Amino acid sequence: MRIILLGPPGVGKGTQASRLASHHGVVRLGTGDMLRTAVAGGSPFELEVKSYMDSGGLVPDTIIIGIMRDRLAWPDAKDGYILDGFPRTVNQAIALDRFLSEHQQKIDYAFNLAVDEEILIDRISGRRSCPSCHRVYHITYDPPKQTGMCDCRTPLMQRKDDSLGVVRQRLQVYQREAEPLVQFYKQQGILMDINAGGAIDEVTEKLKLS
Ligand code: ADP
Ligand code: AMP
Repeated sequence: MRIILLGPPGVGKGTQASRLASHHGVVRLGTGDMLRTAVAGGSPFELEVKSYMDSGGLVPDTIIIGIMRDRLAWPDAKDGYILDGFPRTVNQAIALDRFLSEHQQKIDYAFNLAVDEEILIDRISGRRSCPSCHRVYHITYDPPKQTGMCDCRTPLMQRKDDSLGVVRQRLQVYQREAEPLVQFYKQQGILMDINAGGAIDEVTEKLKLS
């Protein structure tokens, strides 16, 4: 099973990607997490990539396409994956298509998750992430067993790019890139619109049934 999750920041892609990955027995490939791990050092290249992320912009296509071509070729992705956060531009989608045809693969579904903007802001402002296992919580809707602490015993963090100013920039970037990307997958006949406004379990059920 190969699934792409599209949708704005905070809509629940990472949360649902983890659940769908377990359900289908495939890997979740989240480009945000991959990039945050990749820029943990302080080399000039890492600092450059980090500056795009911290300001709410997209990392240049050439960089992320190179990273993903490499990652998609790992043995654990041979039989399927849930893509969370990639592709984010039509150029990335074209590069993904090229990879797929080179490897005789195809995407089964591109789920386009949507909710109103005030819900996105509410979800993002309560988001807490584990820097170690990458699990994501919400202080109200999906809290950890112990406040401020991941269930894996690592202190939780609030992402720097989840501050309101940066979130507004990320939403603008999303609005600019989203429509052509949605059209791209609509034309391929694999796009499914999903109302992601319900509780986490409800959205998971919709995605499993689709
Ligand atoms: P994305 O990967 O799209 O940026 P996340 O999966 O990180 O979004 O979810 C953003 C925040 O919203 C997290 O704190 C998560 O726990 C919470 N969340 C995700 N889905 C729902 C939902 N259906 N209802 C309430 N909160 C949710
Ligand atoms: P996310 O964790 O998906 O919210 O991504 C966090 C940040 O990583 C984004 O705001 C971008 O700066 C960067 N990023 C993640 N995925 C991509 C991508 N496919 N293309 C470009 N930048 C990306």
